[in-house]
Amino acid sequence: MDDLAANRHTRVQMLEGIPEGLLECPANRLDTLLEGPSLIRVPGERQPPLFVSVLLHGNEVTGLLAMQALLREWQGRLLPRELLWFIGNIDAARYGARRLAGQPDYNRIWAGGDAPECEMARHLLDYLEHQPLFAAVDIHNNSGQNPMYACVNRLDAQYINLASKFSKLLVYFTKPHEVLSVALSRLCPATVIECGLSGEAQGTAQVRDYLAHCLTMAQRETDIPGDKGLAVYQTVGRITVRDDVRIAFGSPGDEEALSLREDLEGLNFRQLSPGTLLGHCPLGEEVLRVTGNAGEDVTAHFIAHDNGRVVLQRPCLLSMLTRNIHVIHQDCLGYVMQPRTLEQTRIQAPHLSGPAR
Ligand SMILES: [Zn+2]
Repeated sequence: MDDLAANRHTRVQMLEGIPEGLLECPANRLDTLLEGPSLIRVPGERQPPLFVSVLLHGNEVTGLLAMQALLREWQGRLLPRELLWFIGNIDAARYGARRLAGQPDYNRIWAGGDAPECEMARHLLDYLEHQPLFAAVDIHNNSGQNPMYACVNRLDAQYINLASKFSKLLVYFTKPHEVLSVALSRLCPATVIECGLSGEAQGTAQVRDYLAHCLTMAQRETDIPGDKGLAVYQTVGRITVRDDVRIAFGSPGDEEALSLREDLEGLNFRQLSPGTLLGHCPLGEEVLRVTGNAGEDVTAHFIAHDNGRVVLQRPCLLSMLTRNIHVIHQDCLGYVMQPRTLEQTRIQAPHLSGPAR
């Protein structure tokens, strides 16, 4: 798929009502019904609309499947609330790819830039800025084994409430700042929901139920579910592997590769102690890099090398670790997380209720 010429879209196709056949259409055939990135307005009883985005990454189909299931159930009836449904990278979905060669990542185009897709993103955001919104939900999948969780970009009670209705496991992040949810967070309570592996039935059902809840909420809610198991983690670093390094899995022995541990994905969202093995690397210490939120190199703070073993330097929690080598090189190996107490979260809330940073 790397030699396919990608379509470069500069506009969003605006549609009133659901096109014929869309609710039955598989992700890899959407390009037969839609011209490109599309915003579909579906009427409902209450205003303002709920915004839902799917397929910013073409290989993450759970959001599409959940929306199709939900809207099929409501066919012939008025939704409880108006809906604005954004379908993103249908060209990449055609090939089951996160993005096509020649395209930027559709979840890194929402903070300006010169690419045609950044113009498309501005077109959508211009439209949304003149449109009151109830809330916004951006739906993604992980490429590795992770529990289902929700992300927020602001520690504001309405945002945390919205996210916590999907999962009690929350991630707060501000970087990367070019993601859609950061842009949406300036307009209304917004969350990103991460629904496990793409297309799995359990994830699809949970997302469908969550969206049904969002559509039927009469008003925004502000209560934070206290001590009932809510856990908030903050992203403090992004782990990348140097571009030219070959990646393998399993026991060491390959002198020319970074050999990551076989059960790497089993480490996601677990409290890990110093010395936890990530893999083996005879290639030196410059192979993995951890980048902090300000772009600073924090590798030595989190990762140590011990006789060719790559281990954790301090207690931490990792997320989104993946065995998908393509994703590791195209995006990253995973993220370093730190827990936030609810007290910290509450103290922060008033300061963050202004414009998003
Ligand atoms: Zn995604």
